[in-house]
Amino acid sequence: MKDHENLNFESMCVHAGIDADEFGAVVPPIYQTSTFKFKSAQHGAALFSGEGKGHIYTRMSNPTIEAMEDSVAALEGGVKAMGCASGMAAINTVFATFLGAGSHVVCSQAVYGPTNTLLRTVYARFGVEISFVDTSNPEDVKAAMKENTRLVYVETPGNPTLAIADLAEIVKIAKEFGAKVCVDNTFMSPALQRPFEFGVDVIIHSMTKFLNGHADVVAGIVVAKEMSDYTLMKKVLNQTGGVIDPFNSFLVHRGIKTLAIRMEKHSENAQKVAEFLEKHEMVEWIKYPGLRSHPQYFTGLKQHKGHGGMITFELKGGYDAGEIMMNSVKLCQLAVSLGGVESLIQHPASMTHFSMGPDARKEAGITEGLVRLSVGIENHKDIIKDLERALYEVGEALTVKQEKNLFR
Ligand SMILES: *Cc1c(COP(=O)(O)O)cnc(C)c1O
Repeated sequence: MKDHENLNFESMCVHAGIDADEFGAVVPPIYQTSTFKFKSAQHGAALFSGEGKGHIYTRMSNPTIEAMEDSVAALEGGVKAMGCASGMAAINTVFATFLGAGSHVVCSQAVYGPTNTLLRTVYARFGVEISFVDTSNPEDVKAAMKENTRLVYVETPGNPTLAIADLAEIVKIAKEFGAKVCVDNTFMSPALQRPFEFGVDVIIHSMTKFLNGHADVVAGIVVAKEMSDYTLMKKVLNQTGGVIDPFNSFLVHRGIKTLAIRMEKHSENAQKVAEFLEKHEMVEWIKYPGLRSHPQYFTGLKQHKGHGGMITFELKGGYDAGEIMMNSVKLCQLAVSLGGVESLIQHPASMTHFSMGPDARKEAGITEGLVRLSVGIENHKDIIKDLERALYEVGEALTVKQEKNLFR
């Protein structure tokens, strides 16, 4: 059912982008083909000139991919979307479209590690000027803007510090300078946060995370609010070739059907886990958008419908404590990535944000003992029990260490 305009969000998750084929298939088939046969020489020519409708070659478009793209575009409220091979391929499509020699980009300091590295290594080499700023403070964004700023790239909540940027404020600032605003909406998904409602131009997702939700696909997507931006970015993606394939599109589209209920459960569980951690004596501090102690709690309330599944906390005992904790958990698996139905735990300083280097980490507030937890949809009591036992081990180990030091 392609006519999803009047549906509520949960219904759109189930139906958007899906159109019955000639056999009435309820689930769109996988068009596992690289190319499409033209009816005639004239038909082929019409497709290439853009006068005819249809598919030519899967790098350019494919019905299975298009069905998934239409679904995400509808959920975000954009005009059109383009599926990419990964979240990074989506991010690169945006950068390669709007940045070039002599242009300037303002980017969140707390950002997915490889996004930071891509700008500093590849785009800096091509003559792009880069400012990493604390986008949770609009004044800092304003101070960083220049005549040649073409793009403001925001991740909110940011990875891994969960700093929240006020999207409406940032859009206002960017518009004054004629810069585009792109938001990485991976952590919240359109079920909880719809950045186009705040005037953002482009949204990207790592669909590897919540959109697919089952930790079995690597994929990304770019969603445009305006057709003109879509056309520019689609050309870049077609020429650089980082497209998604039909089978992964099928899997992601299947995952999206349960997005609304999954996000509800992720948020509900994470709230309970965060409240447990906040009171625990081994936890130095915790950041979760649903806790009143979060520095941008009220900004979050303005733009989120729920607080999501991501929690960041610092253990007492720093790096060593983090190591013990991660070797002690059983239900929460020690793995990078996030947004799947299973709870995952990891240590950003030695894992996802290692490539940033210690100085950039320090500046972005990524401390050495920071732990990032992606809360799954298991029963919250099992997750808390697992964390409680692991925290007990941390406490024991630190006590033993202190005693050894005393008797030395
Ligand atoms: C994982 C992630 C990315 C990169 O996505 P890939 O699919 O791994 O390429 C980008 N942004 C955020 C916030 C992420 O969590």
